[in-house]
Order: sequence, then structure tokens, then C-alpha cells
Amino acid sequence: MSAAADVVVLGAGPAGLGAAYRAAGAGHRVVVLERGSAPGGMAGSFEVAGLRVDLGSHRLHPGIEPRVLADLRALLGEELQRRPRNGRIHLDGRWIAFPLRPVDLVRRLPPGFAVGAARDAFLAPFRRPRADTFAEKLRAGLGPTLCERFYFPYAHKLWGVAPEALSGEQARRRVRADSPAKLVRRVARGVRGGASADFWYPRSGFGAISERLAEAAADAGAELRFGALARRVRLGSGGVRVDVAGAEPVRGARLWSTVPLPALARMSEPAPAPDVLAAADALDFRAMVLVYTVLPVRRWTPFDAHYLPDPSTPVSRVSEPRNYRDGDDPPDRTVLCAEVPCSVGDELWRCDDEGLTELVVAALASRGLPDVAPVATVVRRLPSVYPVYRIGFEHALEALDAWAAAHPRLLTFGRQGLFVHDNSHHALAMAWAAADALRPGGGFDDEAWAASRRRFATHVVED
Ligand SMILES: Cc1cc2nc3c(=O)[nH]c(=O)nc-3n(C[C@H](O)[C@H](O)[C@H](O)COP(=O)(O)OP(=O)(O)OC[C@H]3O[C@@H](n4cnc5c(N)ncnc54)[C@H](O)[C@@H]3O)c2cc1C
Repeated sequence: MSAAADVVVLGAGPAGLGAAYRAAGAGHRVVVLERGSAPGGMAGSFEVAGLRVDLGSHRLHPGIEPRVLADLRALLGEELQRRPRNGRIHLDGRWIAFPLRPVDLVRRLPPGFAVGAARDAFLAPFRRPRADTFAEKLRAGLGPTLCERFYFPYAHKLWGVAPEALSGEQARRRVRADSPAKLVRRVARGVRGGASADFWYPRSGFGAISERLAEAAADAGAELRFGALARRVRLGSGGVRVDVAGAEPVRGARLWSTVPLPALARMSEPAPAPDVLAAADALDFRAMVLVYTVLPVRRWTPFDAHYLPDPSTPVSRVSEPRNYRDGDDPPDRTVLCAEVPCSVGDELWRCDDEGLTELVVAALASRGLPDVAPVATVVRRLPSVYPVYRIGFEHALEALDAWAAAHPRLLTFGRQGLFVHDNSHHALAMAWAAADALRPGGGFDDEAWAASRRRFATHVVED
């Protein structure tokens, strides 16, 4: 197979764009294929009623690698703002500040909750997980009060699976404060104005990060093709070929894929062995419907996000994009973004705009919040949002990963490429690491990449 590009990148989310920007900047010929019409993937932005909105609540965590942050600051300049967090969680009928703050906890936490959590913290040294499940790991670490009243109902809502049926890995990769000591440290960090108390955010929406990366990649010589759906991937020993819907095939020396790993296996030639295809079918993603309601007021509340763990509503979080930034948003309207986790094809996924608007209005009623009377609704549906780590998922993931690793011309990374829960700053760290491992002559440093993969395995999601 003759190579037109040194690297063909599948997907123009943060991972694909970051890799294209860095590899093209190092002098490699890069082609990016993205099925969507704009950069950003799940971390993109678009306009609703003249306001830029994200695909659910997005913030750039200050735990980002310093060198990646330095590059983003150089690309975004003053547009990248450091902002204080200002969210709330609805717990037992009360609003608790999130990130947690000691004074607020003392004042607002329902007494029964506080007493239960304190007793659980005291008894923590005597609890041990009886199995490696999400439920057991957190019950042993945090105790029944926090689990039954917050983590378990929220987990069920987000991932659509009982916490007892989720692997312990889901807790390790998703819950940073998984013991009373870590919880206390986290609250203390917030008091000192540390890492969990603020975040980075572009004044024109989170998607600006990907948009600037796309521009920088193009300036460095990368070719970015939007509306380019990869349908089939031919993995040869001397190069790769990608068949694109309605266009000429694209050839390259290497394929860097950030699309969902199971989908990549299904579209690859030669076809993976039946057990690998079965592994691809065993891994599933939770979907999400995003409901944007337009309100004819400047600001609904001063808070950036409201978290709704209780099972009385399928809505998991409602964010108000204008509160994430000090930007140029219109003075006479605001937009709320409600996140509704679901499964592709289920009742929530199929619900029409009117039904979804009613659902959001009902979710926010009777919680001590200002009335929500939308003048318009816009809905977006995302099929692959959260990887679901059911018990035993590790075997399927290992089989797929081993299949991918056996192809010397193929690299998979990014949130969906590795089937991980990671934040954008993790996806960007992977992109930088991939480009670093690409040698000037086109060779690839497998050892450096293996070391990076070990580092990625320690990523824990930031909420
Ligand atoms: C509700 C929600 C809230 C989040 N909040 C945060 C947050 O606060 N902070 C944070 O850092 N992260 C957050 N994230 C995570 C963040 O969105 C991801 O980490 C990030 O988007 C991962 O980037 P990626 O490039 O790996 O993947 P993606 O953004 O998923 O990009 C993959 C790209 O591949 C494209 N693609 C797929 N199949 C094909 C194909 N066959 N052909 C061509 N293109 C294809 C897709 O269209 C997509 O553009 C959140 C995610 C969600 C869903």
C-alpha cells in the first residue's frame, strides 16, 4: 500500500486534533478524518439562540499536564479564563455546594446524613470490600450513608446498571475521593482555593479548545476533512487504507484511531477473529440526550451546574453555560443544558422535544429553584457517551486491546479509543504522548508508548 500521509487520524475530538497538531508541527504529513461537520467531538460547542453551548457540562481541569496547558494558553491567549467553580448537589431535599465546603456542609447537610456519614467514617478501618465491584469498593471505602443516598442512585442513573453489577474498576477510575481521608483532603483543598476549586474555560465555549487546535493543526500543514465518515479500515503490514463514505480512499503509513474501539474492530480488514468481534459486542456505551431550553431571562441562577442524583428524575445534571465564563452572551436570554443519560433506542432516547421539555421542567420543579418556562428547546442525542464497566468487562477490553496492539501500523487512544472514562485533559495528554513517540523518520517508539499507556492507566476522572 503506498502511503500518501505519514499518519491518518480518525476523529477530530481533543485526542485526534491534539495528535494532528503535534505530529504536523513536528513535520509529519497528517490527514484527519472526522464524520461530523465541525471539530470537537464530545468536547465541541455549538450555538443555541445565539449562545454558545457545550455537549453537557465541560470544564478543563487544572490537573492538566503543564506542557499541554502551556500550548493551549499560547493558542487561546486571553480567551482561556481561570474560573471559580460554583455548583450544587441536591441531597435529601437540600442544596449542598459542590465542590464541598466545610461551612456549607455544617449549615446545610441534613442532620441524619451528617451523623450517618460521620459514623461511617469512624468505622471505615473495619470495613473491607467483599468483592471487586463498584458497590463493594465504595461501601467499604465511604460507608453506607454516602453510598445509598448519593453514589449508588447517581451511578444507576448515569450508567443504567445496578452498582452491584459494575466492576470495581469503575470506582477506581471514576471516584477520586473513595475514602473518608481523601474526602476530607478534597474539601480542605477547596477551602485553600486549590485544584478542585477552579477550572479553565474558554470565554466562547469549551469547543474553542478544539477549534484552536484544529486551526493550529491546519496551519502546521495537517489536512482536516469534515463530513468524512470512515466506513472501512484496511490494516496492512506496510500501511493502511481508510474507505471514506462518498469519497476516495485515504492511504497512510499509520492509522491513529480515536473512534470507539469496538466500532474500529468491526470496520477493520482483515476482520478480527470471532472472539475479538464477540469482545467488541460485549462492550457497550451509555448514551445521552441533551436538552437545551431557552429561557427569556438574563440568568437563571448564579450557579454553573446543578447535580440531581435522586432517582425521582432521569435528569442527572443541569448546567447554565453562560455561568462558566465571563463572555459576550446576549443580555436578554439564557440557555440551560439538561443531561439525560439513557440507552440508544429506549423510551428516553426516542422521546420527542415536547416530552423532553416537560421532563426537564418537572425535574427542576419543587427544588427551591426559579421557575423554568422555556421559549424554545433544542435536543441533541449522543450514542456513545459513558463506557459501561460491567463485571467482567476487563476480559473483553483486553481481547480488543491485544488485537489492536498486534497491528504495528495501528494506534488507538482517546476516551473512546481506549474505552475509558477520561476527561479532555487526559485525552490531550494521550495525543501529546502519541506524537512524542513518532520518530522524525516515521518510526514509532513502542517502548515510550508502552510507558505512556501505563501512565494512562492511572487516570482518574475529575467531576
Ligand atoms: C456529559 C459529559 C460531560 C463531560 N465533562 C467533561 C469535563 O467537564 N471536563 C473534561 O475534561 N471532559 C469532560 N467530558 C469528557 C470529554 O468530552 C472527553 O474526554 C473528550 O471529548 C474525549 O476526546 P476524544 O477526542 O478522545 O473523543 P471524542 O471527543 O469522542 O472524539 C471522537 C471523534 O471521532 C469521530 N468519529 C467517530 N466515528 C467516526 C468514524 N467512523 N469516522 C470519522 N470520525 C468518527 C466523532 O465524531 C468524534 O468527533 C465530558 C463528557 C461528557 C459526555
